[in-house]
Amino acid sequence: MKHFIQPISEEYKKIVFIKGARYGKYPYSHSLLIDDFLIDTGISSRLLRKLKRIYPINNVLLSHWHEDHTSGNRLLPYAKFHIHSKDKFLIENVSKFNEFYGISNSPSEEEFEWLMEGLKLENTKIDTLLEDNQIIKVGNDFNIRVIHTPGHTAGHCAFLELNSKIAFLADIDLTNFVFYAGIDSNLSDFEESLNKLNEFDIRTAVTGHRGIIEGEKVIKEELSKYKSIIYQRDERILSYFSETNPKKIIDFKRKNIIYKNYSQFKEYEIIAEMIMIQKHFDKLIKNRKIKQKGNGYVLR
Ligand SMILES: [Zn+2]
Ligand SMILES: [Zn+2]
Repeated sequence: MKHFIQPISEEYKKIVFIKGARYGKYPYSHSLLIDDFLIDTGISSRLLRKLKRIYPINNVLLSHWHEDHTSGNRLLPYAKFHIHSKDKFLIENVSKFNEFYGISNSPSEEEFEWLMEGLKLENTKIDTLLEDNQIIKVGNDFNIRVIHTPGHTAGHCAFLELNSKIAFLADIDLTNFVFYAGIDSNLSDFEESLNKLNEFDIRTAVTGHRGIIEGEKVIKEELSKYKSIIYQRDERILSYFSETNPKKIIDFKRKNIIYKNYSQFKEYEIIAEMIMIQKHFDKLIKNRKIKQKGNGYVLR
């Protein structure tokens, strides 16, 4: 067995964890193979070419449109592609990605286009649309339940194979970073999706960037830890406000509120951070924690 193909269960040998290049770090991600269904294609071109020589891949379930989960689509021209309706438009129009990351006409745009060229991203034609709660029958052994989990993107889905209780959670990735900086991201949807996943009996979770997490109790703990990252950001942002001195979004620029350290993608991260802070502002206004005063906001 090739090193990047890893069995995940003694009992369910046709379910296999596929480890992405660079341990699944962006711009790559991990995949899960369930019989001839592959979930996500961002493992890297090199690994995907090897994988398809070993296993027939007739269907691809896409968790969402992001390039780190979909760059290998072009290498599977004979497969049928499935995605949620809310993410269909983007995966069929990859030139719109810039707009949805909020980087059109920004210093990050060129850098992102260069990255997209490196990934050789192409439009993908979608064959069928996924719906929340839909059950996809795979061979005689497997039933995959689609769990629509919006927030990260509008059409983000997780997948739970009902017999094995093995789930693929994609970019609800249970790392120490939560991303909702897309134009189609939504913070309250994200929180609701985490609550929704918590209702399921998941024995093994595979995430897009962290890999395999075992045990129902551990998975529930990890989900609540992940959610607390969002709450910590609420608190952090709230701590900048006072009752007298109005604060505006721009006052939060380059303050490392969400990215503790900016990486080599600094220019992009500053934009992403501002988009995410805007979503926290909206939440704090909605929850009546802050109110408008002059051209800024103060504590209520
Ligand atoms: Zn993503
Ligand atoms: Zn990702």
